[in-house]
Amino acid sequence: MAATDYIFISMLLTSSMLGSIFLITWFTIERKPHALFWSAVFWVSAINMLMNATRELFPDRNIYWVIVNASTLIMLALTLAGYRVRAGLSPFPLPVIGFLLCVEIAITWFTLVDYHMGLRMMFTPYCGAIMGVLCVITLFKKGKTLRAAEWGVVVIYTLYAIAQIGYGTVALMQGPQLDTYWLGIYQQMNLLLMPAVFSGLGLFTVLIIADDLSVRMRHLATTDQLTELLNRRGFFEAADRFLENCRRHDELAFLALTDIDHFKKINDRYGHAAGDMALRRFSALLNHELRRNDLRARVGGEEFAILFTASNLSEAKQILVRLKSAIELMPITGKFWQFSMTASFGLVSMCPSRDNIFQALIRADGLLYRAKANGRNCVVSDHEASPSPIPA
Ligand code: GH3
Ligand code: MG
Ligand code: MG
Repeated sequence: MAATDYIFISMLLTSSMLGSIFLITWFTIERKPHALFWSAVFWVSAINMLMNATRELFPDRNIYWVIVNASTLIMLALTLAGYRVRAGLSPFPLPVIGFLLCVEIAITWFTLVDYHMGLRMMFTPYCGAIMGVLCVITLFKKGKTLRAAEWGVVVIYTLYAIAQIGYGTVALMQGPQLDTYWLGIYQQMNLLLMPAVFSGLGLFTVLIIADDLSVRMRHLATTDQLTELLNRRGFFEAADRFLENCRRHDELAFLALTDIDHFKKINDRYGHAAGDMALRRFSALLNHELRRNDLRARVGGEEFAILFTASNLSEAKQILVRLKSAIELMPITGKFWQFSMTASFGLVSMCPSRDNIFQALIRADGLLYRAKANGRNCVVSDHEASPSPIPA
């Protein structure tokens, strides 16, 4: 067996393991279609390596070349399909499939019809470089800032694309006939880099799946399922960052605790589903009325916390009074019923460098209690509750 065959067999085993890992991930962790596409990539890769290791058994080496290149192009299509599906795009866009078909036709042409050693070897690596760049573009297309694992993939695909351009160019240097000098360089480059780049691609792709999962778990742990607002835990975490930001910019922060009035009656009169709908509409209104950077969270059944900045207490109160009116005016409409609701607010001003969110929440709860006692549908602030000056 030639030394290269050991590498092919070792990569066959690595491919099978990676193919299994993605399949197991799909079965046991999360049924995300991109895991299936990436599993298929490594199974096709295992077949590709098997063909490479057993190339002597092929009756015709040219037919072997056409088939083995087709399997590489399929791997490239499946890899990109995985990234596209993960980004919410269709897996196989026609231009990409058309492009890959043209590449396969060109390889077949320069292998079986108009033999050209350099060209028939050049197409697949160049195509690999283009597909690598498309994978990177797809990652950026997801629209948000990339996370560490995604940056890892960007780096490894960029290296992969550079290496592929290197292989392709060295292969092309041979010209129409086999040139042992350039072929030797091509093989050395390939065997030196291929296992490392290949394993790197596999491992970073696994890391992307693990990272996606951890982001989703974090989202679940910090988000309220019904309203999609932050939950209590998410609120405390985000509040720390919010107050730190206020400290840095020397801004005043205000915390409001709001509770829907007589919510139990809504449930009793219109049913639990109507109550749920009211909670969702209430949350949507908070999202609509408040600024993007203000924090809003569902901290209890029908109780919400709002952490926001304003230049003084009266401005903060005005914001809440506007919100209170918007709540009153919002009809909740079902098939057989329509109702509106009101909410009460307790508002405290916070000195970000001194106050902590837990104490502020207890103070706001006390004021909310007063708002309820005052007849509900009103805003009570700490200024009204105690004449102590607002911390500057
Ligand atoms: P108050 O004006 O004093 O706040 O009266 P209230 O009726 O709003 O307050 P109370 O604490 O008596 O009742 C709150 C109700 O909120 C009771 C509970 O069943 C309901 N609730 C809590 N979570 C949910 C939920 O997720 N969905 C629905 N539909 N109801 C909920
Ligand atoms: Mg209530
Ligand atoms: Mg309540």
